[in-house]
Amino acid sequence: MEYIKLNSYTVPYISLAAAVVGSGAAGLACADRLHRLGVRDIALVTEGMEMGTSRNTGSDKQTYYKLSLTGDREDSVVELAKSLSAGGAMHGDLALVEAAGSARAFLNLVELGVPFPTNDFGEYVAYRTDHDGGRGRATSCGPLTSRIMTERLEEAVRRNKIRVFDGCRAVEILTAGRKVTGLVAICRDYVTADNPLGLICFGTRSVVWATGGPAAIYAASVYPESQTGSHGVPFLAGAEGRNLTEWQYGIASLSPRWNLSGSYQQVIPRYYSIDARGTEREFLADVFDSPSELFGAVFRKGYEWPFDPRKCEGLSFDENARTYKIRPGGSSTVDLAVYAERAAGRRVYMDFTRNPDGYLPAHLPSDAREYLQASGAAGGKTPFERLCAMNRRAVEFFASHGVDLCTQPIEIDVCAQHNNGGFSVDVWYESTSLPGLYVIGEAAGVFGVTRPGGSALNSTQVGALRAAQRIASRTTSPAAEPPSESRGAALFDRLSSDGTHTLSAADILARRAAGGELMSRSAAFLRDPKAIVDAAAAARAELDAIEREILVMRGDFDALRELAIYYDTLITRYVYLCAMGEYIARGGISRGSYLIPGRPPGDDPLRNKICRVTLTSLSKPPVFEWEDARPIPQSEQWFEKIYNR
Ligand SMILES: Cc1cc2nc3c(=O)[nH]c(=O)nc-3n(C[C@H](O)[C@H](O)[C@H](O)COP(=O)(O)OP(=O)(O)OC[C@H]3O[C@@H](n4cnc5c(N)ncnc54)[C@H](O)[C@@H]3O)c2cc1C
Repeated sequence: MEYIKLNSYTVPYISLAAAVVGSGAAGLACADRLHRLGVRDIALVTEGMEMGTSRNTGSDKQTYYKLSLTGDREDSVVELAKSLSAGGAMHGDLALVEAAGSARAFLNLVELGVPFPTNDFGEYVAYRTDHDGGRGRATSCGPLTSRIMTERLEEAVRRNKIRVFDGCRAVEILTAGRKVTGLVAICRDYVTADNPLGLICFGTRSVVWATGGPAAIYAASVYPESQTGSHGVPFLAGAEGRNLTEWQYGIASLSPRWNLSGSYQQVIPRYYSIDARGTEREFLADVFDSPSELFGAVFRKGYEWPFDPRKCEGLSFDENARTYKIRPGGSSTVDLAVYAERAAGRRVYMDFTRNPDGYLPAHLPSDAREYLQASGAAGGKTPFERLCAMNRRAVEFFASHGVDLCTQPIEIDVCAQHNNGGFSVDVWYESTSLPGLYVIGEAAGVFGVTRPGGSALNSTQVGALRAAQRIASRTTSPAAEPPSESRGAALFDRLSSDGTHTLSAADILARRAAGGELMSRSAAFLRDPKAIVDAAAAARAELDAIEREILVMRGDFDALRELAIYYDTLITRYVYLCAMGEYIARGGISRGSYLIPGRPPGDDPLRNKICRVTLTSLSKPPVFEWEDARPIPQSEQWFEKIYNR
């Protein structure tokens, strides 16, 4: 480590072959892969080893999706690629890469000690998940699959003695001539009189951006609170985004934040709301025509967890006939009903202590009855007893957070869970607009309108391997000269003051939260066109006001860090809202996991179109371009050709 002058500050500087930003499943895997491929002069830069989605999240059975390694259902790389891209708007070459790398990525985790279960013969037995393809590909090691992945991957990183800069939040990607030259981060450990912002600078031609999803843009969110995301930084550096409009939203508990998919729904819990006077109501009974329909919808929500506008009461789309049909009792009707209750000011709960009104096993549709029987849960007298029989760990998870599902209901909402889009990357996960920037994991814009449950975790591992392979093949060029100027440092310098009237971290967090509420109301799974235009204008105004209204006390590192997150979130929100506006202006309809009122799902005019967005300057609106999704390529299959190459 040496010291350089950056703006007016004296700042530590480290020259590296590659810097990996983020310590989720993607970042840790990439650092480990780089090391194993012989690239040793690297560092992992993270705002917190214990932070992020992978480390802190899960569901009843958190799913990993890969090529089938069990049973007699046929599978192939191309079939898997077809399932990954079946929802539309996904490039076929990326689908092929994600499919081809899946077995290697999965078995690497197995070798690192991630305990995916096998039967007596060593087959990785599988179950059904959303948008699955029905080939026996989904597996899990329980509610905390991604946490276990990060723990085993972190052990590998520590074993390899890879340098970890923990507590460092990257605030700027440095570029010269549209190529990456380094990274600037802020870190409490480096705050000195000569460096009051705690800046640290990394000189490198390869930055791997593994910062996860842009969680902080929403208030109703099942991302862990420690995950905020950092999309503003690459946007400002010139990285192009794609498919930003495509998300997954679904029913989740608010405390702890947890996906209520799979067994939580399959045991048919009781849904109810409470109004301001304390009156309790089982509101789903008003929405469905019969108990059987209601229980069937709740049961199916288990494996149809993300909100889907085709699965709403009265709205369904027949893929074969390509027509819009009435289909009462669709499972996403439950999400709409939950939303309507909350919008009317009532709090909504899921309750495992009692059966819903009118519950009788005879009222269950046959698929639900058979599933409960096969899982040994049919005899349970309450949803809680059925859940204990079906998936004890799903109960234990809540108990470990102080919630006893045997006696306590849990408050719920329809929450943002995953962003299918992100930054545009090629088949080596290198940014298509900013050479030297690699984007992997959820930050990468890999998926299209839908994705099979579990494919996000596969993507973290495949992207990590591909980016590492690419960097390893290119690490000859030395790091660039140390920089003397940082735009990010200049902004934070202007917004720091030694005087009074400064904002605390809590004040800034409150502003971020208020914007998140607006975003969740206007631009989440319900996207009213006018509300989106208004929200984009509000985000723009907030961004413009930042230099007029925000001052933090110089040396108050908590406030500075919160300011960096707030600024990043505002840029991200603004670009995302503009992208949603662009989609609607282009005639986009309800699809994936969002409903645009007045535009029912159906024949999608943009099904195979991908929207790309660039922020050319902060003072101008983003620029959009549309391109056709590339088909799955006819890859070379002649062995000798590949072998000799
Ligand atoms: C409730 C829930 C359930 C899910 N269930 C499934 C499932 O069953 N199957 C599946 O495939 N997917 C699932 N997902 C999605 C999946 O968990 C995530 O997509 C995946 O874990 C993301 O991994 P990542 O490494 O890309 O990002 P993360 O794990 O979010 O890691 C991001 C890292 O970057 C750090 N970071 C961020 N910004 C900066 C910065 N500026 N500087 C330094 N560090 C920074 C963070 O602190 C963190 O360490 C689920 C998601 C949620 C929320």
